[in-house]
Amino acid sequence: MNLRAVIASKIAPIYPMAKRWLHRFHGGVFPQYNKSLSTRNPIYPPLMPKELILPLPQAVGESALPIVKVGQRVLKNQLLAQADSKNQRQLVVPIHAPTSGIIAAIEPRTLPHASGMQALCLILQPDGQNQAIDNVLQVDGHWPKEPQALKDLLLHSGIIGMGGAGFPTYAKLPQQKGKITTLVINGAECEPFISCDDLLMQTQAKSIWLGAQITAQALGCQKIICGIENNKPKAIALMQAAADALAKEDNDVLPMHIQQVATVYPMGGQKQLVLEITGLELESGGHAIDQGLLMMNVATLRAIYRAVVFGEPLTSRLVTVSGEGLEDGFNIDALIGTPFTELTALAKPKSPINYPLIMGGPMMGVQMPDNHVPVLKTTNCVLANPPEARQMQMPCIRCGECMDACPINLLPQQMYWHAQGHEYAKVEKLNIKDCIECGCCSYVCPSHIPLVQYYRHAKAEIRAIKADAQAKELAKQRHEFRLERIEREKAEREARLKAKKEAVKQAPAMAPKSASGAAQAAAKARAAAKSSASNMSARDKAIQAAQAAAAKQQGQTDNDKKTKGQSLGTAKDKVIASDAAKKRAQAAAQAAAAKRAQNRAVAPVTEDLQVAPPNARDKAIAAAKDAANKIATQTTDLSSNDGQISPALAKEQARKAAIAKAREAALAHKKTDADTPKLANPQTGEPTETNNARQKAIAAAKAAAAKRAAKVQSEQSDSMDSKDSSR
Ligand code: SF4
Ligand code: SF4
Repeated sequence: MNLRAVIASKIAPIYPMAKRWLHRFHGGVFPQYNKSLSTRNPIYPPLMPKELILPLPQAVGESALPIVKVGQRVLKNQLLAQADSKNQRQLVVPIHAPTSGIIAAIEPRTLPHASGMQALCLILQPDGQNQAIDNVLQVDGHWPKEPQALKDLLLHSGIIGMGGAGFPTYAKLPQQKGKITTLVINGAECEPFISCDDLLMQTQAKSIWLGAQITAQALGCQKIICGIENNKPKAIALMQAAADALAKEDNDVLPMHIQQVATVYPMGGQKQLVLEITGLELESGGHAIDQGLLMMNVATLRAIYRAVVFGEPLTSRLVTVSGEGLEDGFNIDALIGTPFTELTALAKPKSPINYPLIMGGPMMGVQMPDNHVPVLKTTNCVLANPPEARQMQMPCIRCGECMDACPINLLPQQMYWHAQGHEYAKVEKLNIKDCIECGCCSYVCPSHIPLVQYYRHAKAEIRAIKADAQAKELAKQRHEFRLERIEREKAEREARLKAKKEAVKQAPAMAPKSASGAAQAAAKARAAAKSSASNMSARDKAIQAAQAAAAKQQGQTDNDKKTKGQSLGTAKDKVIASDAAKKRAQAAAQAAAAKRAQNRAVAPVTEDLQVAPPNARDKAIAAAKDAANKIATQTTDLSSNDGQISPALAKEQARKAAIAKAREAALAHKKTDADTPKLANPQTGEPTETNNARQKAIAAAKAAAAKRAAKVQSEQSDSMDSKDSSR
């Protein structure tokens, strides 16, 4: 005992927390251990129960699939259930028969779980013969030299972590050789009442060391350290003796050390024991393997030894049967699947066990919803503690005891407050995931608050919230993916449709145009131009022509300016120039019209076709007036003929004569137009569409003039008639 331990033990009666000076990690508690209740007796002889209940789901991972049928006889070590080919690597371990017998049923049974859930179980009825298949794993006695070889063997042996976690051992081992430098053997059985590891070290020390050597050599470790609490002196002595003997037998074994550690709960925790033995502090959320460490329970190492050397699968384990309610606690190598009730019946219960048994120790153990549940590979203790009068829970007084006791350095009081208020985000921020549910905080709380229960509930809620959020996120992603797919398909459809339309459009353009098609198109264009021109009045056409001329002149002016290096200005300037050109064109057209009108008023209509006025309407009017003058002269002559012709006849003759004259004038103008050389396209020499339109306009004007002349003639006749009647 070092100086620190001596001082701590002296001060402890006055100040109990001085014991914390004995270990490195923070917190921890010193409960009543009561281990002598089970260690005072030797290991109980093998028990053959009436039935064995073998759950298909394991502590971790998927359920195994049964490969036997109801009514089938099986032998000890025979494979009963295994992983299928699909989920072989999803943490599933096989189940082997613990003894020979008949598969009586495959039915749901209550599992040893706090929730009381049921799951499919193989019910094996032992026949008492215990016939076994030797070396069912078909080993040759040689130790695996590589991690993968060891992992494969452990997978088929069905070995899982027997310290309580239940993680499949094959999945825990690294594939890389040399990644682990130190193998730590956990012999610090810190929970009160439990003594199975202690007894195992006392009875199977050599097997444990050999299992450790097999594992360490396959993984390429450099040393093996075994941590044992100093309240197990027998185990320490026997383990040391076995290590020494092994080292003497074989010089090739790796160095083996035993390190005594203080008896404090929870020294058996991985973080706490590693810190105590090596001084290394494992990171939150990290793995010990990443820091070159691997920790294994003594029972697991013994199972590895049996599997590698004898080819035995894991079908039994050492279990402590103890508690205040039992007269005679003990440890027993119980077959997996043995019901709790059969074990406690052997330990002479002080009173009928009508209260829930506990699987595990009093600190971290779980009360069973049904006492007829089976021993699992992770079951280290069956505890029969009659329920005590529950102390009334009181409000938190903020004493901080829970904080001092927490071995993980968490803030139990704050986690409790937020968990109570359902503020799970805040609870998560306080690193509740690191809580190992050791129960130290509850143990020391003077207000008797069941803190660990609040944390378990909060953890379950956080898991549910995360699962819900994950499901929602998944649904959202699927929805977005669906929308994206629909949009993409729509775009592809539209692109295909567009491509088809383009192909249809380009097909005629690419094909050689036929002569008839071109002719038809040209005829259509001409007809459209004619139609457009015919819809314009003669005045509009004149204005249009003048505008064109003005625009041309303006263009010429602009060109001249360009030639002189002057800029045409901005777009705005161009618009202004265009408007000005239009105005000039209109003014020019109006001036031309006024000039023509002046010419008509001053000069008589001439018969000279060469100098005929360009306005057909004016020409027609002039012709009509001429005809009317002539008719008027004739009428005057007729009126002087003293009644040789009646007035009505004279009127009719005058009208006909006027019409004839008008026709002659129209024909004469038509002939003139026909004889007049048409304006030709200066480039092609062909008559332009504009000329055609002009001719049509002229014809229309002639017709209109003839019509007006006839009307004038008619009015004159009517005037003459009225004069005759007044006489
Ligand atoms: S030990 Fe109990 S009373 Fe004290 S602070 Fe923690 S929860 Fe509150
Ligand atoms: S149960 Fe959790 S919070 Fe309480 S002492 Fe243990 S690790 Fe800390």
